[in-house]
Amino acid sequence: MSFRAAIKFCSQCGQAVRHAVPDDGDTRVRAICPACGVVHYQNPLNVVGCIPVMDDGRILLCKRNIEPRWGKWTLPAGFMELDETLVEGAARETDEEAGADIEMGRLFSVISVPRVAQVHVFYCARLRSDVFNPGHETIEARLFAPQDIPWDELAFRTVSTTLQRYLEDQASGAVQVHNFDVL
Ligand SMILES: [Zn+2]
Repeated sequence: MSFRAAIKFCSQCGQAVRHAVPDDGDTRVRAICPACGVVHYQNPLNVVGCIPVMDDGRILLCKRNIEPRWGKWTLPAGFMELDETLVEGAARETDEEAGADIEMGRLFSVISVPRVAQVHVFYCARLRSDVFNPGHETIEARLFAPQDIPWDELAFRTVSTTLQRYLEDQASGAVQVHNFDVL
């Protein structure tokens, strides 16, 4: 997990940690506090979002006003917060990034991204309105007909693959949950 900075100091007492395998049967190197004994575990984060679709089939995408991938298009999604469910997180991100009025639908995709220690989860969603009020993280929220999706300008592979599979299912009539990995 080299993308995430190694822990240097104990979160409990501020002492510099040492990196070692705890002698409790663990098999991974952890940041261990030599003063108070706390073992700092690092685990994957959840990114949750949705595929907001108008009844006419157009899909809402947001142009990112933040790094990484500034200026690229994405489905509304972001890090799940403490004290919320997946669906609540997907709704909150959609509100923050697009100000869109949606009716949340079923689970669509669950994607492991071990390279960045994340799990991405997308739900289907029905747009009740084509009026959007994007927040500061979004340059523009816009509806795209399937044939107009800017495939070369999408921010993340989890988004492009989710969109691709959504459109394939629309064409074939399949109703399924997609579980795959982006390596
Ligand atoms: Zn400590």
